[in-house]
Amino acid sequence: MDRAHPIYIPDPGRYNTAAAQNGAFPDEKHIFESAGNRYVKRLCAPYAAWKTGGGFLKGMDRLQEILDKTRRLVFFGGAGVSTGSGIPDFRSAGGLFSMEDQEVFGDLTPEMILSSSFFYLHPARFFRFYRKYMLYPTAQPNAAHRKLFEMEKADILRGIVTQNIDGLHKKAGNIRVYELHGSVHENSCMDCGERYGLSWMLEELSGSDIPRCRCCGGVVKPNVVLYGEGMDKYVCMGACREIGNADTLMVAGTSLMVEPAASFLKYFRGKNLVVINRDETSADSRASLVMREDICEVMDNLKVPVR
Ligand SMILES: [Zn+2]
Repeated sequence: MDRAHPIYIPDPGRYNTAAAQNGAFPDEKHIFESAGNRYVKRLCAPYAAWKTGGGFLKGMDRLQEILDKTRRLVFFGGAGVSTGSGIPDFRSAGGLFSMEDQEVFGDLTPEMILSSSFFYLHPARFFRFYRKYMLYPTAQPNAAHRKLFEMEKADILRGIVTQNIDGLHKKAGNIRVYELHGSVHENSCMDCGERYGLSWMLEELSGSDIPRCRCCGGVVKPNVVLYGEGMDKYVCMGACREIGNADTLMVAGTSLMVEPAASFLKYFRGKNLVVINRDETSADSRASLVMREDICEVMDNLKVPVR
């Protein structure tokens, strides 16, 4: 985006007034269109379903229109994608951060417990928290996961980039999944590298405080990215490549508050950025469509185009 010249961005809320609907602000639109700057035009005409009063159905029509023309869709998802499967959101009200559990938390925040240093210093306490709040072995893919699988089968969806560690996209059948923060389904011995699945980890944690390797007795660590650890560089590179090649990027179930995951969006050079989230996100202002809806409900109503 060219920031060399200051640009005036009208408040999209103005277009929601009766005056706007009667065409009282034609010159603003004219100025932007005559400026010939594609980005400026996109900024001044985002279709925000919640602001235009169009509601769910109009937002769905616009989304279907975008999807029907999409060749390379990439889905970027966060915790909101898994709440429909019974996995609590980390940050929203009713989520993990608002739980009161003196026995597990003590005077610590979940972020402290889920840090790399805490894991090495207090592994037993880490695993008590991990077993109770990070593992949801009975969770099943929901409507959003299932629809994304259909889209990958139809060769419209080129990749899923997720901040979730629950592995539900892979469980739904998707292959091109970039798990930025790792997965609870992968665990490996810190000494010999032996790998273990989720069912092994559950069994191990039911009988002991710290999971120990069957081969060498070393501590088995979940392959999830803890606070203070870096993300896997190959996963990041793959995710950036997919986002860079996409013509539509759908961001859903995330408020984009957590870095560095949120900065992945800057690789997007495609036509349509679609944001579907209950709350405001940092990408709303540059989106072509913003829907303040539940991603499961949206996906359930979306038709996979037949090519
Ligand atoms: Zn080992």
